[in-house]
Amino acid sequence: VQRTFSIIKPDAVNRNLIGEITARLEKSGLSVIASKMLHLTTEQAAGFYAEHEGKPFYETLITNMTAGSIIVQVLEGEDAVAKNREVMGTTDPEKAAPGTIRKDFAVSMQKNSVHGSDSPESAAREIAYFFNENEIY
Ligand code: ATP
Ligand code: MG
Repeated sequence: VQRTFSIIKPDAVNRNLIGEITARLEKSGLSVIASKMLHLTTEQAAGFYAEHEGKPFYETLITNMTAGSIIVQVLEGEDAVAKNREVMGTTDPEKAAPGTIRKDFAVSMQKNSVHGSDSPESAAREIAYFFNENEIY
């Protein structure tokens, strides 16, 4: 089994989609093994998205990620990283496959409802950014 890290972004939390999005993740075979609601500060969001600093969409990304509450979750299952990315759909919701979270719920590339780690290494770093080991399980 593998772990991955998921965020339900402010655009989705604000539209009451926490349950529907979590249900899709769970139906895919992933288990939620840790979960909490947070409202990120600008500093926390900037630290999380440090790799995107300087990109044209960076400022808007930080603004959107701090615009409201988020749900951070640790997901566990077989091939969790890839499975989560599959259920999420592509970054651009217009290009996302039918039945994916982003196709069905995302508003735009910037307000694309969810985040999911892109590799097991990113997952480990992102989980550690938000959770202490004693908060998991
Ligand atoms: P995430 O990391 O949120 O799971 P991702 O891996 O599909 O999404 P990244 O390339 O890591 O996408 O970008 C992080 C986030 O920045 C995206 O989810 C999206 O909200 C925003 N973003 C990325 N590329 C663009 C872009 N070209 N225009 C606008 N926003 C973008
Ligand atoms: Mg990414």
